[in-house]
Amino acid sequence: DVFIHDRIDNVQDAVDQALFNEKRWVWVEDEKHGFVEAQIIQDDGKQYEVQLKGGEIRYLSVEKIYYMNPPKFDRVSDMAELTHLNEPAVVHNLTSRYRHNEIYASTYSGLFLVAVNPYRKLPIYTDEYIQSYKGRRRGELPPHIYAVAEEAYRDMAHGKNDQTILITGESGAGKTENTKIVIQYLAAVGNTAIRSRIEQQILQANPILEAFGNAQTIRNNNSSRFGKYIRINFNSQAQICGAEIEWYLLEKSRVHGQSPSERNYHIFYQLLNGDESIKEKLLLGGKTAHDYNFTKDSNMTIDGIDDAKDFEKLVKSMEIMGLSEEEQFDYFRIIAAVLHIGNLSVSRDFGFDRSDVHIEPLCHLLGVAPQEFRNSFLGPRIKAGPEWVRKGISQEQLRFNVVALAKALYERNFSSLVDRINQGLDGVKSMGEQHHYIGVLDIAGFEIFEVNSFEQLCINYTNEKLQQFFNHSMFILEQSQYRAENIDWEYIDFGLDLKPTIDLIESIRPSGILSTVEEQCYVPRGCDKKMLHYLNNTWGNKKNNSSGKYEMSRFDDDSFIVKHYAGKVKYYTKGWVEKNKDPLNEDVTRLLARSSNAYVARLFKDYLYKGTSDEPTVGLDGTLSKPTRLRQGSGSFRTVGQRHRQQLAVLMTHLGASSPRFIRCILPNSHKRAGEINTPLVLDQLRCNGVLEGIRICRKGFPNRMAFEDFRKRFQILYPDDFPLNKFMYGRKACELLLDKMALDPELFRIGVSKVFFKATALAELEEVRNRH
Ligand code: ATP
Ligand code: MG
Repeated sequence: DVFIHDRIDNVQDAVDQALFNEKRWVWVEDEKHGFVEAQIIQDDGKQYEVQLKGGEIRYLSVEKIYYMNPPKFDRVSDMAELTHLNEPAVVHNLTSRYRHNEIYASTYSGLFLVAVNPYRKLPIYTDEYIQSYKGRRRGELPPHIYAVAEEAYRDMAHGKNDQTILITGESGAGKTENTKIVIQYLAAVGNTAIRSRIEQQILQANPILEAFGNAQTIRNNNSSRFGKYIRINFNSQAQICGAEIEWYLLEKSRVHGQSPSERNYHIFYQLLNGDESIKEKLLLGGKTAHDYNFTKDSNMTIDGIDDAKDFEKLVKSMEIMGLSEEEQFDYFRIIAAVLHIGNLSVSRDFGFDRSDVHIEPLCHLLGVAPQEFRNSFLGPRIKAGPEWVRKGISQEQLRFNVVALAKALYERNFSSLVDRINQGLDGVKSMGEQHHYIGVLDIAGFEIFEVNSFEQLCINYTNEKLQQFFNHSMFILEQSQYRAENIDWEYIDFGLDLKPTIDLIESIRPSGILSTVEEQCYVPRGCDKKMLHYLNNTWGNKKNNSSGKYEMSRFDDDSFIVKHYAGKVKYYTKGWVEKNKDPLNEDVTRLLARSSNAYVARLFKDYLYKGTSDEPTVGLDGTLSKPTRLRQGSGSFRTVGQRHRQQLAVLMTHLGASSPRFIRCILPNSHKRAGEINTPLVLDQLRCNGVLEGIRICRKGFPNRMAFEDFRKRFQILYPDDFPLNKFMYGRKACELLLDKMALDPELFRIGVSKVFFKATALAELEEVRNRH
């Protein structure tokens, strides 16, 4: 039997229960360990005297006491079943399950799956496993990501509506691994008799995306530096007929610099360790990562990873995806160009420096003339009297423009690659039309760093929206259950709780944070200081900020504070306007748009219509004129904030039109170590990812439910004379009678059509009565 059963046998159950009853166990908060076990010695209902396991005595008020669940709830697979649904109970459940290699736990009627990174290969992703989850209902087998995928698949096939699986979590928590596992499952169950080509292609999209979009970071050797939403399309027979990928927020700054013991994107090392003949053609012959400024200060290798082998795999994946050798070469061409750009000597006689051996290879790769390339960087020529002269450009500005070009090339190449993959995945027409899809979102969770900047605001804004969506989904789900059971209960939409924070970020009038950054990109001499000034004036007062989500910094440190649902975050505003504008020297981009290389020209085609290179340019003087920024077509990048806001809006529309399921990935420790689980770290993530928020929502309603029959079976022993086992009585009637006899406060329960619903801990009280009996 491959499955680990979490039920202890009944005898053991009774013994444990008896031991548990003797002492009144509780959890108390502890700075170091999160929560520790303790036993109540004495209490007056308000003040508690407790003894910790080690013997220490503490005096605590009632809010600091969390009741422990009886042992029969140990490692329950659905956390919402816990009678004492509190923070320590949830953490305890997850950590003890983890120690038994049970990395998945489900909760809130399957809306939520928690996945703790095992950091070891568990034998739970085999074909045998896939087969055992296929066609099974939730609850029949232990929680598993396959169970979620199966449910989504079944609902898509039978319920005929679109599905989304949202996977979030900190870096290294396992989002991308779980995404791959979902796709592996769908490819296995959604195939035809003959394994179709499209499934192979869908599986091969990943190595390509990871080569160009993943890198080693301190937290994760294979960290995705972008977010993605993969939609798997199905035909009317629920067979895979295509797929498409949308990407979000690629971390471009990594291209030109990495923190110590991190790396640049994998592709650089793969290419430099790859096929010599390709390297020759890319003018990288005989070179290594040590030879290029953009890679030489980084880690060179990753434990257990062979870049040369990965390059071979990459090429193979590209072939399966249907990319011709020329196409492959074009994607590598840009990578090589970026490496050459990094080595340009940015001196006053830029490009004229005789020792600069990179400009010619670079221009060859980019299909432009070296002379024109230089000129475009050194600024426009202005007519002064009879002569053309150059407007001076500072070395700093020059360096900025060069780096900006490298980043833009990298991002546009990535974008184009994803477009190309999508073309490959667009579907085999013989597989029929798309009817429904299952979308999988793999996106970074909430980020609170020591120094938070514009990038964190964008990602935290995304998470704020996703959390709102979750709260709303939970509300819909709970409400539907109450409604189905005919229970009178005014449910509150907790999605609304997040509105003030979201408004603060995205509001148009008054200008929220994003719009304010935006405005500063358009006004003359717009800057970070003016932006902050505006924000403080607009949101620092009671009128717009009645909910208090915005706080001015108490120090003169160019920062402001946003109260996110996951915690307060201080954002430093230095460089935001520039980051949002993300300006490019348009002389260069226009030149590239006319490149003799068709691929390079295509990457910059949005710049083509702009006038000649003698025009004054944007990017040098700092401001953007609106018309030039309104570009069209794919790869149309306006400002970073605009693009993100727009993409997020599209994503939210997709989510809103589909049935959601949420996977919360949890990082167990910060050393990538198997078997180790750090309670405070887990607790922190549960706070940020909405699991605890879910508890709060649940507790407002009636989280514990019991079918009439089960309730009667369990409690009628209290009144043996009134409820003879053989006498017929309607389940509802029996429950009413029982509850009446037990004199439970009517506010604490509701009787539905088939179940009794209890407020949090009410059922536990009844259990206690039963145990004392
Ligand atoms: P990032 O935000 O940095 O992209 P992530 O959440 O996508 O992080 P992953 O790359 O999925 O994290 O996981 C990090 C590493 O953890 C993996 O490379 C793998 O070694 C391990 N890991 C994650 N999930 C599993 C799993 N289910 N089984 C085995 N190992 C896993
Ligand atoms: Mg990832």
